[in-house]
Amino acid sequence: MNSINPINAVMPEDIQKRLKLVKERVEAAALSSDRDPKTVKLVAVSKTVPVDRVHAAIKAGVTMLGENYVQEAREKIEALGKERVSWHFVGHLQSNKAKYAVKLFDLIHSVDSLKLAKELNKRAGALGKAQDILIQVNISGEETKSGIDTEQTLNLVRGISPLENIAVRGLMTMPPYFNAPDKVRPYFKALKSLQTLIRQEAIPNVDMTELSMGMTGDFVAAIQEGATLVRIGTAIFGERE
Ligand SMILES: *Cc1c(COP(=O)(O)O)cnc(C)c1O
Repeated sequence: MNSINPINAVMPEDIQKRLKLVKERVEAAALSSDRDPKTVKLVAVSKTVPVDRVHAAIKAGVTMLGENYVQEAREKIEALGKERVSWHFVGHLQSNKAKYAVKLFDLIHSVDSLKLAKELNKRAGALGKAQDILIQVNISGEETKSGIDTEQTLNLVRGISPLENIAVRGLMTMPPYFNAPDKVRPYFKALKSLQTLIRQEAIPNVDMTELSMGMTGDFVAAIQEGATLVRIGTAIFGERE
């Protein structure tokens, strides 16, 4: 298995083809559930992917990139710029990195505590920025997963609502990993229900437009259940090391 480095097997010139296939599958999934394909945005997750391949993805038409590590993202953003793409943070964010995160990212998908939200609020305020965020929900309740518990999500959103420099745009989840999309589907449905519930509360400064769910193995089911942002790495860039 380890005789070739799989990430090296995907050359920059392959990325255009792979991206085209992914976009076709995204579109087909939307149409299969009577959704307008334009309502599903593709975030290409480029963690561990070298700059030349990320550049190839941008040239091939990627407009949103997702990164998991602040330092790695900073280097890529310095190399590639922010003009043609918006950069999203999808990994676990520690409060002590909030300062950098607000400088670098248009959307932070992974806010799961009031402490982190307050730190982001403070740092965004210092920059004169309104920081868009999603609330990461631990929809499966697994102890090892990051994210706020489902039952505590509404309370967290209420707590964030008064923070002036933070705008809640929706919810994100990472369901347990299953190879069978139908096993993850209930978790996607649950996130959609939670979105509906919070939306009904009409909390000031909170819009529940976005649902960030679905990765390489399960994005079709996620789109069918209402995803507006799918986070896809492997299908575009190949296996990570
Ligand atoms: C790595 C990662 C992805 C992309 O996963 P793939 O299975 O490679 O598509 C999506 N979301 C998050 C939070 C990730 O860490």
